[in-house]
Amino acid sequence: MSEEQKPGWRSIPIAGIITEPGSAMKYKTGDWRAYRPIIDEEKCVNCLLCWIYCPDAAIKRGEEKVSVDYEYCKGCGICANECPVGAIKMVEERR
Ligand code: SF4
Ligand code: SF4
Repeated sequence: MSEEQKPGWRSIPIAGIITEPGSAMKYKTGDWRAYRPIIDEEKCVNCLLCWIYCPDAAIKRGEEKVSVDYEYCKGCGICANECPVGAIKMVEERR
C-alpha cells in the first residue's frame, strides 16, 4: 500500500484493538492533532531527548537535526515538555 493509500485514524478498529503486529504504521494519525510541535533548529542542540520520549516515533533523526513526521505526530506535546533547551513550541493546528 503506498503512502497516499493509507487509511486515516477513523479506520482504526474500535477500542484500538491491535489485530497484527506493527499495524500502527498503516494509519496516518496526524490528522487528529490539535497542536503542532515546531522545532527551532537554532536552539536545538540535537540531544535526541524528543526522539527518545515521543510515544509515536514521530521524531525523525536527520543528518544534523531532528524533524517531526506530521503524518503520525498526534500533538501530545511530550517532546516540547522534555526538550531541555525549549527548542520545541506547540502551536495551534490550523486546517
Ligand atoms: S507532539 Fe507528541 S507525538 Fe508529536 S512529535 Fe511530539 S512527542 Fe511525538
Ligand atoms: S529535545 Fe530539543 S534540543 Fe534535544 S533534539 Fe529534540 S528539539 Fe533538539
